[in-house]
Amino acid sequence: MLHNEPSPLEVKVLTSRFAWPDSASVDTYVAHEGYEGFRKALSMKPEEILGELKVSNLRGRGGAGFPTGMKWGFVPRNSPKPKYIVVNADEGEPGTCKDRVLMESDPHQLLEGMLIAGLVVDAHAGYIYIRGEYRYLIGIMDRAIEEARARGYLGRNILGSGFDFEVYTHTGAGSYECGEESALLESLEGKRGVPRIRPPFPAVAGAFGCPTVLNNVETYCAVPVILRRGGAWFADLGAPKNGGTRLFCVSGHVNRPGVYELPMGFNLLRMINEVAGGVRGGKKLKAVIPGGSSCPVLKAEECDLAMDYDTLAKAGSMLGSGGVVVMDEDTCMVEAAARIMRFYSHESCGWCIPCREGTIWLSKLLARFHSGAGERQEIDLIGELARNMLGRTFCPLGDAAAMPTIAFVKKFRDEFEAHLDGRPCPFEKKKRLVTA
Ligand code: SF4
Repeated sequence: MLHNEPSPLEVKVLTSRFAWPDSASVDTYVAHEGYEGFRKALSMKPEEILGELKVSNLRGRGGAGFPTGMKWGFVPRNSPKPKYIVVNADEGEPGTCKDRVLMESDPHQLLEGMLIAGLVVDAHAGYIYIRGEYRYLIGIMDRAIEEARARGYLGRNILGSGFDFEVYTHTGAGSYECGEESALLESLEGKRGVPRIRPPFPAVAGAFGCPTVLNNVETYCAVPVILRRGGAWFADLGAPKNGGTRLFCVSGHVNRPGVYELPMGFNLLRMINEVAGGVRGGKKLKAVIPGGSSCPVLKAEECDLAMDYDTLAKAGSMLGSGGVVVMDEDTCMVEAAARIMRFYSHESCGWCIPCREGTIWLSKLLARFHSGAGERQEIDLIGELARNMLGRTFCPLGDAAAMPTIAFVKKFRDEFEAHLDGRPCPFEKKKRLVTA
């Protein structure tokens, strides 16, 4: 089911079946080109499939944007160990809800992407790691797995090809940290969800110490259509080096929040104004977090840009997980920074000191600032603390907490100054106070 009205500007590729009745069923899937990418892949050599993926310019949709064809090529297909396909469905980044929609409305598309990955690396088992808050999706995915098995798309000797593949669902316990790939693998193996020291990377030593393909839900979902229509077709949908479409989750102060599938490189201002109906209440745009809460904020005047990995990186931010958080002129940026840091201090797994201590310290400082109790010299202290976390933690959560903080202080210093000397928050009437 769709969670928002579609926009005429959308380019529906991964969401093309969403409008069909009973879109999650295998009957609907097969009636609309379902499992045809896999059938085609059965007649191809693994290196030919990898070639199409490389031509497609598909980059990982979880946040890092690493080229998928290259990543799958790192898995040693001839290793004597078993190989595994793991799906990161932990979608915990604030502002992001696209994987949920993909699994709810078209679960077979994900299974087909996993099957094709299995063919490429000679894997015979796959795991879908679903975040604890998405527990209800386990039932949807398990039903799809049963349907696929009944139709001969999973199990032994799939479609008479001699290829065997099974898929299992696994639920997390609601930890943001388990969205980090190595912590996810620890959790999948039944251990505490903390990151592993790398190298080795999952391609060589992933699930149960074996070579593993590990990608986000949306990444796997893009693979069947690439096989059906070709890598060049997919690449042409998007921007240079950024192939295909992207599911953007537009939230915050817009008239029509929702998940929209748009070409990679779609202009951010057009997304806000034409796709999501503009800023709510006719107010002015103040800022946008373009890819989930760990991405540095953009000021309104920086938002006339293409939403692709490279353009966002040049602008000093990131495309991240596709969570576009829109903030209007009444938003207190000190409060926004404090709320984000409170989230990260809560989710820090405590494994390394800069993150464990730094996020708590920053959370308290930012909340104190918002209450008007901050001191002038502490504005620089906030930035310094965050910079001292950057690159000094075991996993990217430390950077995810530090980067937005640095941007908030740098770009909205005037708002931090406006909270000094016990003055009430200038936006207080409209926003709730943050408490430590
Ligand atoms: Fe845990 Fe934070 Fe260190 Fe990551 S950066 S390992 S979340 S303490």
